[in-house]
Amino acid sequence: MAVDPVCKMTVDPSKTKHTSQRAGKTIYFCSAHCKTIFDKNPDKYPT
Ligand SMILES: [Zn+2]
Repeated sequence: MAVDPVCKMTVDPSKTKHTSQRAGKTIYFCSAHCKTIFDKNPDKYPT
């Protein structure tokens, strides 16, 4: 399982379609909303 860095919710990588690339890693989000927040300010969230 992965952790959504924005809301800290546990995300199943095989189920979510909301992902973002950061420094060669794939980040998983629970929703498009969290992905949008992350993409606006990725430096705020340690990977
Ligand atoms: Zn989230």
